[in-house]
Amino acid sequence: MSYTVGVDVGGTKIAAGLVDEHGQVIARERTQSPATDPKQIVRTIGELVRTLTDSQPVEAVGVSAAGFVDKARAMVVFAPNLAWRDEPLKRFLEEELELPVIVENDANAAAWAEFTFGAGEDVEDLLMLTVGTGVGGGVVIDGELVRGGFGMGGEVGHITMVPGGVVCGCGNLGCLESYGSGRALVRVSRELAVTDPESAKGLLARAGGDPSKITGPLVTAAAQDGDPFAVARLAELGDWLGQGVATLTAVLDPNVVVIGGGVGEAGALLLDPLRESFERHVTARGHRPMLEIRQARLGNAGGLIGVADLARHR
Ligand SMILES: [Zn+2]
Repeated sequence: MSYTVGVDVGGTKIAAGLVDEHGQVIARERTQSPATDPKQIVRTIGELVRTLTDSQPVEAVGVSAAGFVDKARAMVVFAPNLAWRDEPLKRFLEEELELPVIVENDANAAAWAEFTFGAGEDVEDLLMLTVGTGVGGGVVIDGELVRGGFGMGGEVGHITMVPGGVVCGCGNLGCLESYGSGRALVRVSRELAVTDPESAKGLLARAGGDPSKITGPLVTAAAQDGDPFAVARLAELGDWLGQGVATLTAVLDPNVVVIGGGVGEAGALLLDPLRESFERHVTARGHRPMLEIRQARLGNAGGLIGVADLARHR
């Protein structure tokens, strides 16, 4: 058995795992992310990897990051929630660790994990959406992860759904992320709790009566308990995401769409409205084989499992 290490760098925490060739995580480490200090992030990743490789030699290290990564998988060009701008992460980490390193976008890594070991392991063409604070994505076509000409493809959260619509974290207006993300779920729930407190009273009670205390997990928990206001908010999110998946399907024609991320864990409350919306909007409906929309299987370990496997096959 041979091993690689996968490291998932987020805005608030860094998770690392020792992963075998079947995608099993043998050991894990996790720590707070020093998100505002690029040098400290490199040292922290180094410490996590050394802890995991102390008693177990590894072939390579993969790092998944919430940002745009160049085609050579060496440089984090831009990470909105981290301090990285044109950060040569591969070089810095190879000097720190004396091991081969690759860097990959976190949603690409998660898509690769679901394709190789998870919800899409039975197909060759997969589209994944990671629905968390934002909407990330990854595309696998003919068994290959699609990076595009410059390494920045697969950013499905930034297709325009509403020209001139709600401003997105990327600076554009009306992106899918502006309507289908956890951030959108919170924004709309808070707005309606102010304008229509009677309908939102169940959710408001959970938030101590303060609309600004409404969070994504609070909406999901209320929906799971059958609160109609919260169920409707997740259904709206599913509706937007279904329209987005229909648009992407017109281009990519995947066999399977996998929905992951923290909001994706709401399960049928999100996926059933998403499927209905997809079926209403997809082109050539009634005349094409219907793809399956499935929940991710690997949860939040998907990023590190995927990037560990990509490092193995670098
Ligand atoms: Zn955007």
